[in-house]
Amino acid sequence: MKQGSKKKNGGKNKRLRLAIFALCLVALTLVTGVFVYKNKDAISNRKHEYYYQLRLNLDRIFTEVRLKERDESRYTLKEYTLSEIKKDPNIHYDNSLILINSEHKVYEGADEYVGEYKDKNVFMHKAIMKPYEELAEYINKKYGKKLYISSAYRTREKQEELAASKSKDTAAAPDASEHRTGLALDVYVNNYAGEAFIKSREGVYVNLNAYKYGLIIRYPENKTEITGIKFEPWHLRYVGVPHAEIMYRNDLCLEEYIESLKVGVFYEANGYIISRQSGESLKIPQNMKSVRVSPDNTGCYIITAEKP
Ligand SMILES: [Zn+2]
Repeated sequence: MKQGSKKKNGGKNKRLRLAIFALCLVALTLVTGVFVYKNKDAISNRKHEYYYQLRLNLDRIFTEVRLKERDESRYTLKEYTLSEIKKDPNIHYDNSLILINSEHKVYEGADEYVGEYKDKNVFMHKAIMKPYEELAEYINKKYGKKLYISSAYRTREKQEELAASKSKDTAAAPDASEHRTGLALDVYVNNYAGEAFIKSREGVYVNLNAYKYGLIIRYPENKTEITGIKFEPWHLRYVGVPHAEIMYRNDLCLEEYIESLKVGVFYEANGYIISRQSGESLKIPQNMKSVRVSPDNTGCYIITAEKP
């Protein structure tokens, strides 16, 4: 008898709790529905941007790439002078990791790796040709849109003209512009150029996936105090795959990344050995799948070796 009434009461409580839960759910759905309805225009105009912010933060929180310091005794190293490096057919030498800003200026001959892109009368650094081509092909395949270039390599004269005609933060001073090295490209899709680029699906894709192509968004939104340049979602800069991914996932701009590499130390990340060195000769790891060397324009060189 007693047990039966307990059971009955238990059943009643359960039903009550269920009813309250259902009511709460209905109320929550209604409130959300009203909010979304009232802000529907703002939300649909900015949905790509919201997605971009969310993904960017998730990528940084959950997939950080750690650069692990390694003792150099692990490697077979050989010392090379710079002229030996430049002559060696197994070492790829260029200036793809140079830092260019108001402190570290463009130097004479910084455009020596510039060439013409596919006979199209567009000039850029040889290292950024393939990444741009692959990125543009992907955008075309996925979204059916063309990824245009509004600005690639600029001569000193062109950059001077631009700096004179525009406000200081939209065109860097002639000696502080990466465009003079050919390593930077300004891109857009129809109807979404400049600041509007990040409001398009294509712009969001480019900003979230550039690292896969060895490219970085050189002037990120949250680094304006370091770079001295406002957010430029359209300005792509080539640095190479391992570096681009480390910067993207660890939320570092190029200034911070180069500074984070201690001189003379060997690091590993994502199957690559990375070492920033200075001096008359550089220690190069042997028996690697590939080795790249670039000056960084701060007086050091960055060695990037892909492990076999
Ligand atoms: Zn640019």
